Amino acid sequence: MADDADIAADHEQTLLDLRLAEVLRTARLPARVGIACLICGEEISAARRAALPNACTCVDCQGRFERRPA
Ligand SMILES: [Zn+2]
Repeated sequence: MADDADIAADHEQTLLDLRLAEVLRTARLPARVGIACLICGEEISAARRAALPNACTCVDCQGRFERRPA
């Protein structure tokens, strides 16, 4: 039978799970980070990834981002 500490731990874990789910949803699929654009989810071209290994957005989104008014 669960005591208060167990219930509190379960509640904490549930909050962590919800937070994690939100992070994963917001970041789209983390397993594809570096492969898929974080903004639109389209695959980043191999050429762009070769040139910019840390690129996390596709050329189109990066262009929009850089042209965005400050
Ligand atoms: Zn994109």
